[in-house]
Amino acid sequence: MSIAIPTSTTIAPLQDSPQSDTHKTRLWMPEQVLVTPAALAEPWGQQILERVRSLNLPIQELPRNRLTGLRGESDRETYDISKRTLAIVTSAPSSLKLSPIPPSADWQFHIAEGCPAHCQYCYLAGSLQGPPVIRVFANLPQILENLANYEQAGKPTSYEVSCYTDPLGIEHLTGSLAECIRYFGTREDGYLRWVSKFDNVEPLLGLPHQGHTRCRMSVNAAPVSRRFEGGTASVSARLQALRRLALPVECGGGDYPVGLVIAPIMPMEDWEEHYTTLLDDISAALDFDCDLTVELISHRFTPGSKEVLNTWYPNSKLDMDESTRSVKRNKFGGTKYVYDADTMKQLRRFFEQEIARRFPTAQILYWT
Ligand code: SF4
Repeated sequence: MSIAIPTSTTIAPLQDSPQSDTHKTRLWMPEQVLVTPAALAEPWGQQILERVRSLNLPIQELPRNRLTGLRGESDRETYDISKRTLAIVTSAPSSLKLSPIPPSADWQFHIAEGCPAHCQYCYLAGSLQGPPVIRVFANLPQILENLANYEQAGKPTSYEVSCYTDPLGIEHLTGSLAECIRYFGTREDGYLRWVSKFDNVEPLLGLPHQGHTRCRMSVNAAPVSRRFEGGTASVSARLQALRRLALPVECGGGDYPVGLVIAPIMPMEDWEEHYTTLLDDISAALDFDCDLTVELISHRFTPGSKEVLNTWYPNSKLDMDESTRSVKRNKFGGTKYVYDADTMKQLRRFFEQEIARRFPTAQILYWT
């Protein structure tokens, strides 16, 4: 693909391509909103509550700072109740001690935990404990203020905010992602990274980000996204959203650095053909010069995530057969099941070649 220089006259207006399956993605609306006393006492909690009230969502003020009433008769019922519940809470004091998150960023921090989508391979399974309720944090100013402690003057420091949630999927209810972007726009050396499978980027356009936020979309080939990614925006809609974020302001865009996270990569039948189609769609959506990075993540699972996913999605056709995988152990003794070395090599070569050919200036950050 040749990349054209962006001028307002060379960039096509924002339209869906004829073959696109873009449809207006419905915003997630919880069936119940729980709010704790501690969250009520926070001005940012009040701001979230105001948004929720304006949407006429049923609100329940809890007597204590504990979430209750989420357990159903079965794991699946608990899952259903939780995934329809928004809880406005304050984050645990321990969350102010940040953890590194290689290879994605220097540090991770959290503005929420839980996600309204229903991906059958969900990365949160096994990482978050308890019912998968969507908790949003009311003490955001404190969370942001704490980040400066991890910044070293003169050394760019990156922060990932989407390890435990899809921040765009709940942005209409929280406004927290926009607040993070505004905060990082004021930092000398701090850089924000977020990733999503949703497409409601309108509220993020026009924010004073100063190039300190990289917006990424997680995308996949049609057999994976259609079969396994319930409750998300279509891949076409995500790509149009990414285009919007990357376009210059004078073309109606957000002028953000952007990124693609192609994940989880699976060698399904005819995988080269399906991933070629995906890369063609990406080329069509990003047909102008932009600051683009790519992250490539092959499918993997752990014994813990498999167990949780089997209770959440008992009828899933997702391949989690240990006997066909290689075992990868980490330094803490944890086990991961990944594809065998030959398959990994083939997949990696395909993506690295195809991406270099189509996006010669894009940086591939890692393959895993
Ligand atoms: Fe899990 Fe991400 Fe899918 Fe949300 S969008 S369900 S966090 S994999």
